[in-house]
Amino acid sequence: MIEVTRKTFETIDPRTEEVIARIAEGEKEDVDLAVKAAREAFDHGPWPRLPGCERRRIMLKFADLIDENIEELAVLDTIDGGKLYSLCKIIDIPAAAETIRYYAGAADKIHGATLKMSRDLQAYTLHEPVGVVGHIIPWNFPSQMFVMKVGPALAAGCTMLVKPAEQTPLSALYYAHLAKLAGIPDGVLNVITGYGSTAGAAISSHMDIDKVSFTGSTEVGRLIMQGAAASNLKSVSLELGGKSPFIVFDDVDVDKVADLALQGSFYNKGEICVAGTRIFVQEGIYDKFLNKLEEKVKRWVVGDPFNPNVHQGPQVNKQQYDKILSYIEHGKNGGATLFSGGKPAGQKGYYIEPTIFTDVTDDMTIAKEEIFGPVMSVLKFKTVEEVIKRANATKYGLAAGIMTNDLNTANTVSRSIRAGVIWINCYFAFDKDLPYGGYKMSGFERDMGLEALNKYLQVKSVATPIQNSPWL
Ligand code: NAD
Repeated sequence: MIEVTRKTFETIDPRTEEVIARIAEGEKEDVDLAVKAAREAFDHGPWPRLPGCERRRIMLKFADLIDENIEELAVLDTIDGGKLYSLCKIIDIPAAAETIRYYAGAADKIHGATLKMSRDLQAYTLHEPVGVVGHIIPWNFPSQMFVMKVGPALAAGCTMLVKPAEQTPLSALYYAHLAKLAGIPDGVLNVITGYGSTAGAAISSHMDIDKVSFTGSTEVGRLIMQGAAASNLKSVSLELGGKSPFIVFDDVDVDKVADLALQGSFYNKGEICVAGTRIFVQEGIYDKFLNKLEEKVKRWVVGDPFNPNVHQGPQVNKQQYDKILSYIEHGKNGGATLFSGGKPAGQKGYYIEPTIFTDVTDDMTIAKEEIFGPVMSVLKFKTVEEVIKRANATKYGLAAGIMTNDLNTANTVSRSIRAGVIWINCYFAFDKDLPYGGYKMSGFERDMGLEALNKYLQVKSVATPIQNSPWL
């Protein structure tokens, strides 16, 4: 609901380029109001003071309501983000409910440790909620981003604001509605829709927000840190961009690995931060691998994301569509060979053909920069040492895929790659229990798993004398 600015912006259906709805455009004044509500709920409200089992009960109800509204939520993410409806229905939204359940189960298991300091001094640690959290999230997985931020913060007893991306605000508003129905008290979970440079910046520089948890681009991550440093030194966690290597050694089942490579580059139309778009193929199977890719990419269907036979829907918006097409031009003009695709698909909507470049070298723009679209670069390599060096020659360190049947090679490469997530003979293997995040300029701290719970807690050490302790 618009409280102060009373401005709105349009959210667009990328299938048709038509307006779906006008959304409240929150700005600094609205952020101030939401922070006031969250502060009040943290300082005086019930949520941080409830026994963990009570927070668990309410969060489980929230998860059940998500399950009961799978169809509605799947439709919202499909029309707003161009995501495949069938996958939203069987993966994204059920996984969102499961993520809330996972953290609900953690809400009554938050505790510190007891320490013996000396014969006459003991101490214990308390794990307390960090306070008011600002979550700023991107548009590529609107549901999963929402719950992976909100779930652990709710379990920890924090209160919060969520600013969804301006491209995909719809499902976040629906989740807020379900949270209220579940019984999450007023002021605990506040959704602010609006633009990054206004609403987002107001969150990172707010004096009364204790932590910002951000997922998005490396450029904006830097701005968030500046905003935090220039205001109240709030703590920041960053999940940023990537340019992940997908390494194929010549002992693999080429057919199976070619399927994984296509998924690794084109899943969610390439709009995925862990996309494995630098495909390093060992020279012994290079030609065979390309033949398989050619065969398979012909069967990769682009079209309406409501059609269950489609593999790839439209890019999220015109800006993203134009950016991807300009990278494709870079590839064509920069010396790579256009192997397949390379142009828009269809007349209307932001559809792009799955695009493969071969003869790519490490210094080409398409091999260095995150494209965030369905564009794969294939590079040839000879030795293990060489591919480790080249895979690591990037400012990013989010994920890597290692395809080999040789255990020693898999172990050596997985320990040598500077990235937060390694997939051996699989790709996109996610789980609510598995921490997720980057090295280097892909960010720091982790989402998912119990690691994420810790980032919404802070540790207090309490020391006290003891008398007559029989032993140390
Ligand atoms: P983005 O950084 O432009 O936007 C992300 C969010 O930040 C949006 O909500 C946006 O409104 C907000 N924002 C923009 N400017 C801001 C500012 N000055 N202050 C505060 N907030 C601001 O990113 P995007 O284009 O929406 O998403 C694509 C990027 O996100 C890619 O780089 C991708 O790799 C990354 N990403 C990373 C992960 C991960 O887990 N590491 C997951 C998804 C996306």
